[in-house]
Amino acid sequence: MECSQCGRCCKYIVFQIPSSIDKDLKEYYEVRGFVVLPAQHILLQYNPCPYLKDNKCSIHDKKPELCRRLDAKHLDGVLILKGCAYEKYAHPYQILELPESIRKV
Ligand code: SF4
Ligand code: SF4
Repeated sequence: MECSQCGRCCKYIVFQIPSSIDKDLKEYYEVRGFVVLPAQHILLQYNPCPYLKDNKCSIHDKKPELCRRLDAKHLDGVLILKGCAYEKYAHPYQILELPESIRKV
């Protein structure tokens, strides 16, 4: 097993947006609690899943398919939060450092 159960992927919402955004749209996302990383076209939000209890998934046997997908064989194009145990299999462009303003892990 590679996952170290750090819980990062259950605590942050990460969206990759297709193109850069203007000042108004940046503000729109920020007032809704997102951190905008314009250079990487990424929106980030600290928003822990309600099923995360003591840093573990409390519905492990029934968790959504999306939550089961991350493993070393399926990392193509996937963003990995820095500190994830799969970081060592990812290309540097896939590794996302959490900005200080949002870092809560
Ligand atoms: S359902 Fe479980 S694995 Fe999926 S985000 Fe929530 S706590 Fe994490
Ligand atoms: S971020 Fe990586 S190591 Fe941490 S719980 Fe998610 S898959 Fe596991």
